[in-house]
Amino acid sequence: MMKQSPIVSRTRELLADHNLALKKSLGQHFLVDERVLERIIDASELDVSTGVLEIGPGMGALTERLADRAGAVLAVEIDGRLIPILRELFADRPHVTVVHGDALQVDLRELMERHLGSAERRSVVANLPYYATSPILMRLLEERLPLDRIVVMIQKEVAERIMAEPGTKEYGSISVAVRYFAHVSWVCSVPRNCFVPRPQVDSAVICLRIRREPPVSVRNEDLFFRAVRAGFAQRRKTLTNALSAAFFGGKRKEELGGLLREIGIDPNRRGETLTLEEFARLADGLEQKLEKR
Ligand code: SAM
Repeated sequence: MMKQSPIVSRTRELLADHNLALKKSLGQHFLVDERVLERIIDASELDVSTGVLEIGPGMGALTERLADRAGAVLAVEIDGRLIPILRELFADRPHVTVVHGDALQVDLRELMERHLGSAERRSVVANLPYYATSPILMRLLEERLPLDRIVVMIQKEVAERIMAEPGTKEYGSISVAVRYFAHVSWVCSVPRNCFVPRPQVDSAVICLRIRREPPVSVRNEDLFFRAVRAGFAQRRKTLTNALSAAFFGGKRKEELGGLLREIGIDPNRRGETLTLEEFARLADGLEQKLEKR
């Protein structure tokens, strides 16, 4: 029989000892590959001045490595069955705090302030559950939590969408939104056989370095994000038609065409070809149109 890695054996032992059936609905695929763990840790550039928020510590394989490097670790896990296991594993490491909660619901700002408040800089490092990747990422970014960096393992297709360039089929509202808040870089691809149980998709690790200021200035951020969503909502429509449907109940197409020409964007282009800068120009132009209504 092939020799198992220590993390695989430990994960299996923990599961057996606690008689736990994993929940696919919570994205419970545990990482059992040392090299990938090392890549995540390297990309996180941790030291004792860093406080780390980990979302979904699972059986603690990544948590343990974070605890070896960072000054403080705050691990938020939704599955109550894992909490006693994690608390026992880290009982002799007072700089690790395990919180039972849903990362989409708990007050992350308050938790970070309480447990990572004394750190010089703060990062999120996590192997995110597939079902909630986008909402968790967007929550971290949109709430403008005091973060320097986010290093996450996510489904490979989602990572490719985030990294995509305008005009490609992967480019979508998440590519624009994430880039508005952060510089993104690819860390590594992770095949499905690096997890137990093995998922049906491959994964990738990406690193987001949070920008101090957005790369474009927009007068109304909500409108900017609405324009981005509208631009991608119906991919086969021209920008004029997509905007008219989203903002004016299918009307005022001529006026919109005029606005687009005025700001230097061909009205027949499709939303998925617009750059971040063009979406920003569009949002500012739309704001004037909406004001005049
Ligand atoms: N960090 C572990 C690893 O790398 O092996 C586990 C990662 S596993 C992909 C995702 C973990 O997130 C699971 O432990 C799951 O229970 C937890 N989880 C799922 N949804 C969550 C949520 N909304 N808030 C916090 N944790 C969540």
